[in-house]
Amino acid sequence: MLLGLGFILASCNVNSEKMENPLLQKFDTPHGVPPFDLIKVEHYVPAYKEAIMKHDEEIAAIVNNPEIPSFENTIEALDFSGELLRQVDYVFNNLIASLSSEEMQNVAKKTAPLLSKHYDDISLNLGLFKKVKAVYETRKELELTPEQDRLLEVSYKEFERGGANLDEEKQDKLRKINSELSILSLQFSDNVLAETNNYKMLIENEANLAGLPESVIQSAASTAKDAGMEGKWVFSLQKPSMLPFLTYAKNRKLREKLHTAYINLGNNNNKYDNKKILARIAALRVERANLFGFKNHAAFVLDDRMAKNPETVFNFLNKVWDAVLPNAKAEAAELQKLIDKEGGKFKLAHWDWWYYSEKLRKQKYDLDEEMLRPYFEKNNVRDGAFAVATKLYGLKFVERTDIPKYHKDVEVFEVQNPDGSFLGILYMDWFPRESKVSGAWMDAFRKQSEGVDPIVTNNFNYTAPIGDKPALLSVDEVLTTFHEFGHGLHGLLSKCKYQTLSGTSVTRDFVELPSQFMENFALEPEVMKMYAKHYETGETIPNELIKKISNSGLFNKGFTVLEYTSAALLDMYWSTLTDTTERDAAQFEKEIMDKMGMIDEIVVRYRSTYFKHIFSWDYSAGYYSYQWAQVLDADAFSVFKEKGLFDQETAASFRDNVLSRGNTAPAMELYKKFRGTEPQLDAFLERNGLK
Ligand SMILES: [Zn+2]
Repeated sequence: MLLGLGFILASCNVNSEKMENPLLQKFDTPHGVPPFDLIKVEHYVPAYKEAIMKHDEEIAAIVNNPEIPSFENTIEALDFSGELLRQVDYVFNNLIASLSSEEMQNVAKKTAPLLSKHYDDISLNLGLFKKVKAVYETRKELELTPEQDRLLEVSYKEFERGGANLDEEKQDKLRKINSELSILSLQFSDNVLAETNNYKMLIENEANLAGLPESVIQSAASTAKDAGMEGKWVFSLQKPSMLPFLTYAKNRKLREKLHTAYINLGNNNNKYDNKKILARIAALRVERANLFGFKNHAAFVLDDRMAKNPETVFNFLNKVWDAVLPNAKAEAAELQKLIDKEGGKFKLAHWDWWYYSEKLRKQKYDLDEEMLRPYFEKNNVRDGAFAVATKLYGLKFVERTDIPKYHKDVEVFEVQNPDGSFLGILYMDWFPRESKVSGAWMDAFRKQSEGVDPIVTNNFNYTAPIGDKPALLSVDEVLTTFHEFGHGLHGLLSKCKYQTLSGTSVTRDFVELPSQFMENFALEPEVMKMYAKHYETGETIPNELIKKISNSGLFNKGFTVLEYTSAALLDMYWSTLTDTTERDAAQFEKEIMDKMGMIDEIVVRYRSTYFKHIFSWDYSAGYYSYQWAQVLDADAFSVFKEKGLFDQETAASFRDNVLSRGNTAPAMELYKKFRGTEPQLDAFLERNGLK
């Protein structure tokens, strides 16, 4: 009786929930931003289920359309379909990264397999593929616009790469592989998050703080207080906590302890260990590539990238590796000399690098990070990035306090065209929380398409203001701000008809061009004078400091380039395995590092067990992309250096040929339209002291 009644009540609730689920309504907010104040965790699973069903119906309508397949009734209809699902998915994907919880992770565990099945059902829908193929085969007679032609090509290729041309048995296998991969990659990042949050280095003796700047000590004290240990100090494996400790702490033993914990994330043989998970991921990827007739995962992935194949990527990375290795060794030798001179009787180790390079930088250039921070107050840096966009493209940024946001620390800006008309919304989320993924990234709550304005978001993890002391950024963080903002502009300035092609929907090895391009402006003297003002006195950064920054421009480049390139190569080695043996991850990594001639004093930027880019996110066989895009951004920026930083004609050409075009033409074509030629390596090599 009771059970029966309970069931009836429950089903009534489900129905009324469906009616009131804010994720399933048209967002009735300024500019249609998500109504964060109304969305609750329990809304996601029903919303996903409903939106997936709606998308299925839309797909069925395309497949069952009795008319002859045309561009409009098939390709365009596909681009328009799934709008409700995108609405739900964009909100969830953003919030699981920036406002996660166990409940949210449970939602992801429930919906990840549903979504993977749903997209497999579309990409393996034979009736649908037949229609797409029919349109594709008549493309020459269709008189399509270039963007329509591109959409047709991209859509067809996506089906092909999704397995639509495979036989039934292989398709079945593919579904199983994709579903297992989606679960494993989620486990991988959950484990990294758990290991990061579980580790706390507690300091009780004040003497062990020797060398640390006051701001770092305060921040560690406030972390301790939050953890219920007032009067003590806590350092974590989050980079804004760890890196200052490694840079300034005199206590060598504690530096060793902290950095050793970091490089063993996901490698502690406990329940969060990622070794078996990633070995399984690598093996499944080989299996999947084989289904498509490729001998390894990288060959499959790179087939539709700018680089085209693993050989090109290996050639590029090895060229950089060979050029940078001697520089990194020379830097290590110089640091050793400093240790010897100070009477330290030990060999430079990986936990020493930051500490001694900071010391050396002070000696060589009379420059230290803490001298610069007061000029890089977070709001000033943000306004500097805005000012560059204003000078280049005439954009205006107006803060809106009347728009829903998901956390009180988030800022919201309305972005306006030069004539004052509305362009889009930009969310900026600055500070770390336990519920937030580490690092920095850009994403969208809504992508631009004809008649639809973009809503984009920038996420950072900078040390929050303490008391009345504002957030003061490091040089790296200044660059990161400009970087993510550059992605933001790519999303905001998009002028495409179809959402499939718009904004940042370009190939991985092109997507970092707009972001890295913006980094170039951050430390230009002309630009620093616009925004780098002392947070207390308002004084503009003095010429003398600007000169010191530019003099030290190549300092430690051997380290940063080697650290990065080793990770890009590690990714390529994992991605070019040709058999499905599940390897011992630690041993495999060691073999690779030995083969490359990696030096002990530097650890690969991400070790396998916490390399989320390649085992959780979609960057496998693609981590090289940042460096590849550096070749592009260095080459592109050299035009601005030559013609003038804010030369209007050059800026308009970059906006019209690159930023606004999304994926409406192949990347190389877009780039050549802006540059006139293919990109050259010179500017990249010079910038990194490799030439
Ligand atoms: Zn980026």
